Amino acid sequence: MGGILVYVLHYEGALNKNSLGAVSEGAKLAAELGVDCDAVVVGGGDLTNELIGTLGNYGAKKVYRAEGAEGLAQPVIDVMDKVIGDNGHSYVIFGGGLLGFEIGAGLAARRNAGVTMEVTGVSVEGGKLVAERPILGDSQISRSHYKGDLGIIIGRINAFEVKESGGGAAEVVDVQLEYSPWSNQATMVQRGEQRGADVNIEDANVLVAGGRGLGKAEGFQLCEDLAGVLGGAVAATRAVVDAGWYPYAAQIGQTGKSVAPKLYLAAGISGAIQHKVGMQASENIVAINKDANAPIFEFSDLGIVGDLNKILPKLTEAVKAKKG
Ligand code: FAD
Repeated sequence: MGGILVYVLHYEGALNKNSLGAVSEGAKLAAELGVDCDAVVVGGGDLTNELIGTLGNYGAKKVYRAEGAEGLAQPVIDVMDKVIGDNGHSYVIFGGGLLGFEIGAGLAARRNAGVTMEVTGVSVEGGKLVAERPILGDSQISRSHYKGDLGIIIGRINAFEVKESGGGAAEVVDVQLEYSPWSNQATMVQRGEQRGADVNIEDANVLVAGGRGLGKAEGFQLCEDLAGVLGGAVAATRAVVDAGWYPYAAQIGQTGKSVAPKLYLAAGISGAIQHKVGMQASENIVAINKDANAPIFEFSDLGIVGDLNKILPKLTEAVKAKKG
């Protein structure tokens, strides 16, 4: 039995929280299997020994570091393929997110491995890993066993808890490789912050969430104004993220983030089951919808039937006035 390998995403000198959760989970499972949990990072000069050595705190034994383009799937697939080929890892874990999906799928094709996405739990049975993922609108759980030499597990965002295990610095191993010709076919032209990406919506006490009822991308200004006076952040449904109105980082639901703020104010959101599963744990749910029969009212603490274009600005003014 080989070890567990975890891909760690990073940006501007900081390690990604989902990836740290995946390393923590990988380390826990590796201990149960009696193997090591290692990590892979791909990038440039900001990947210092000091930074990536901290992965030892989350249970990583070795960190394989390769110099290469960040934020693109193909080079990472090359690196992981080589690390697995050289060291015989039996499982790979990703923390989730679009890049994890892309790398995991590519790696599965490259190594003829089984892959399970949107995983919310992993257990050890008979000395092997079993991945659990919710299906049918989260109403059922499917369990995947892996055959063959490699099993790939891609977590749902925030499915794996970040846990420091008190380990010392991880050993850093530099990987030398020649990238496949096709890995250089795509290059990163620009990288920048998305609107709203500076706020961590999982930590916000108040979320003002917008849906298709906002009418257009500019409609989000109404949510941003109210979130601003309430000291909260803005969230979104998949419908508006898919339409390009708001960034994926703000998406709540089955294929987005799960949140539990003190107040979740849903404006122009119908309340589809796939959205509900990401926000139903909120302490107070307030919904504004012009359709009195919208499903969101079935699980709201307070419902306002009306036009959000009139109600949101009034709410913003009222909060401002109250604050003086
Ligand atoms: P709509 O369903 O179109 O609702 C818009 C609402 O706005 C309506 O209720 C309407 O009455 C109201 N409205 C319109 N104008 C106004 C106005 N002026 N004032 C007040 N109200 C108004 N969705 C997610 O959100 N998150 C996910 O993670 C997610 N994952 C999915 C995964 C799968 C596999 C699938 C199949 C779907 C997923 N979806 C997800 C999509 C989900 O099924 C819904 O399509 C989506 O949530 C609907 O978004 P919405 O509420 O913004 O839009």
